[in-house]
Amino acid sequence: MKDIVIIGGGPGGLTAAIYAKRAGCDISLFECMSPGGQVMTTPEIENYPGFVGTGFDLSMKFYEQTSALGVDIQFENVKVLKKVDGVFSLECESGATFSAKSVIIASGARRRKLEIKGENEFTGRGVSYCATCDGNFFRNKVAVVVGGGNTAVEDAIYLSKLCSKVYLVHRRDSFRASKVLVDRLENHENIELVLNTVPVEIQGDDKVNKFIVKNKLTDEIREIDADAVFVAVGTIPETGFVPEEVEKDSGGYIITDTKCMTNIEGLYAIGDVRNTPLKQVITAAADGAIAATYAAEYIGG
Ligand code: NAP
Repeated sequence: MKDIVIIGGGPGGLTAAIYAKRAGCDISLFECMSPGGQVMTTPEIENYPGFVGTGFDLSMKFYEQTSALGVDIQFENVKVLKKVDGVFSLECESGATFSAKSVIIASGARRRKLEIKGENEFTGRGVSYCATCDGNFFRNKVAVVVGGGNTAVEDAIYLSKLCSKVYLVHRRDSFRASKVLVDRLENHENIELVLNTVPVEIQGDDKVNKFIVKNKLTDEIREIDADAVFVAVGTIPETGFVPEEVEKDSGGYIITDTKCMTNIEGLYAIGDVRNTPLKQVITAAADGAIAATYAAEYIGG
C-alpha cells in the first residue's frame, strides 16, 4: 500500500508529488495522458513568477523536477476510487488496482462543448478545443473563437498571428478575461469582435465552412464564412471516478477546507477540480503544496 496516491499530473499534482516525496512519503502519481495537464496547451505563461515562456515548457520543467526526485508515475486512467475500512482503493481502466492511505485528487477539468448542431460532426474537421494544438492547420485561413474568458481571448490573440482573420464570438458585451488580455485585442487588427452573440450551428461539407450565429439583442442571424471554430467556453471538472459522497458545489467542483481536504478524511482535492476562486497554474501549485503537506501529516497519524 502506498502512503499517498496523486491522481492527475498537472501543475497541482506534480507540485503535490514534489512536496510529498520531500516529506519522505511513499507515493505514486497517476496520469492517463502525458504529465502537464491543461497548461501544456497554453501559448504563453506570463503570470507565474520567475518564468516566462510556453505552458509546454513550464510543464516540462515541473515534470523534470518531479522525475529527478524519483516519483513513481503510473500511466493509468483511474475509473473508481473508494474508501473502505480507512483505506483508499483505486481501480484503473486497465484492470490494475492500487491502495493508499491518502489520496490527492488533481484531475483538473476538461473543455466544455457548445452543444450545437454540427459540433460533433465537424470535430477534428475544423472544430477544435485547442488553439495551440490545431492552430497551425489553419495558417492564412479564417478562424472563429467562441468564449469570453481568458482561454478564448488568449486563443484569439494566438490565432491572429497564424490566421488571416479571427472572429471572437462572445455572448455578452464585456469579457470575463483579465483586463490586460482584453486590452491586447485592440493591437490585433485582424481580430473582429462579435459581441452579444450566441452560436447556433456549424456547417460545412467535408470540413467546416460556416459558423451560424445569432445576435441576442436584434435576433439577427449571421453566417460567418470560416475554416475553423475554436471552442473556449469553459471547463467541466473531471470527477467521474470520485465517490458520490464527496461534497461538490453546483458546478460539480469538489468542496474542500483550507487544507484542501474534502469531507472524507484523508482525501484531498487541488487545482481546477476544486471549487477554487482562481484557476491558475500558481494556485494549483499552491494547492498541491498544501494538500501534500497535510496528507503527509494525516498518514503520520
Ligand atoms: P471561463 O473563464 O469559465 O469562461 C468561459 C466563457 O465562455 C465565458 O465568457 C462564458 O460566457 C462563455 N460561455 C460559457 N458557456 C457558453 C456557451 N454555451 N455559449 C457561448 N459562450 C459560453 O473559462 P476559460 O476561459 O476556459 O477559463 C477557465 C479557467 O482557467 C478560468 O478560471 C480562467 O481564469 C483560467 N485561465 C487562466 C489563464 C491565465 O491566467 N492566463 C488562461 C486560461 C484560463 P459568460 O462570460 O457570459 O459567462
